[in-house]
Amino acid sequence: MEPSLLPIDILDAQQGFPEALAACKDLDGLMRLKGVYIGREGSHSARLMELLKAASKERKRELGGAINVLKNAWEEALKARQSELEAARRQLATFGNTWDPDLPPPIPARGAMHPLNQLIDRLVDVFRPLGYHVEEGPEIETEAHNFDGLNIPADHPARGSADTFYFEKYPELLLRTHTSPVQVRTLLRLAPHIQEKGGIRFLAPGRVYRKDEIDPTHSPMFHQVEGMLVGHDIGMHHLKGTLAYAMKALFGPAAEVRFRPSYFPFVEPGCEVDVRCPLCGGSGCRVCKQSGWVELLGAGLVHPNVLAYAGIDSNIWSGFAFGMGVERIAMMVSQTPDLRLFFENDQRFLKTMGGLD
Ligand SMILES: [Zn+2]
Repeated sequence: MEPSLLPIDILDAQQGFPEALAACKDLDGLMRLKGVYIGREGSHSARLMELLKAASKERKRELGGAINVLKNAWEEALKARQSELEAARRQLATFGNTWDPDLPPPIPARGAMHPLNQLIDRLVDVFRPLGYHVEEGPEIETEAHNFDGLNIPADHPARGSADTFYFEKYPELLLRTHTSPVQVRTLLRLAPHIQEKGGIRFLAPGRVYRKDEIDPTHSPMFHQVEGMLVGHDIGMHHLKGTLAYAMKALFGPAAEVRFRPSYFPFVEPGCEVDVRCPLCGGSGCRVCKQSGWVELLGAGLVHPNVLAYAGIDSNIWSGFAFGMGVERIAMMVSQTPDLRLFFENDQRFLKTMGGLD
């Protein structure tokens, strides 16, 4: 098409069309622009149609072709822009910046207790009515508190650097391998109080460290809850009654416990405590490996050497202690097959555990 075919003002209008279109920020503006370009009367296309009518026979064909191309281009571009603006308006109506005083405000996502901390709190709540309070100790411990005070002999394999994290520059320090050093610290600190008050009972929750490779059931850092009671004439029946009560409180009134003889240096006698599998009720499942029982605790009567280390006369005083792995219980209660999920803090997992809103 030769430019001279069309009047100069129409050519100007055509040149300015893309910019004018982009400048339309709402449907009203677009309708006005539509009127200017393709409206029935007084628009650029109306003028072009008059030109066409008035054109000579020979020119009509060529001019008609040029006018059609122009009109179609305008119409299509206006239509496309209209769909865009309509979509934007719908979006605004749905999510928009309208303010309705009757609607509740949007609530921002909140943090919450981690599932492991929730479980620790629950364990503390189970024992609190029995008179237990919480004792804490440092995660960096001395060999004396972590091993010596617990009757763990110098040649015990757990003391080796293959199992325990030591500090290169401070060889007498280590990352505690269990929460049991809190027993030693508490007995040492409260020995006069214990003898005056007739005994003590406490829980010691916390992090512990062992040189384990990370896999679905092991981690170099995990949590334990330790429990200890010291008094007069304390026997296995007290331990059994206490743990039976605790397991019922934790897993429901049908929970049963079973004691199996075992050995830990800081108790005598020592035992492992199983609970009737809370998932299958004892009929056998994957979690209990078809045995109907799940091992949950290590326990026993406090070894006389542990009391003696703290200056407490084992002829007068006796007690029991127990320890459990928090992750182990959490995995069982929640049927989580992989321990690592508790440390990776994937919000999707935490939400299923009730750890987040
Ligand atoms: Zn089972």
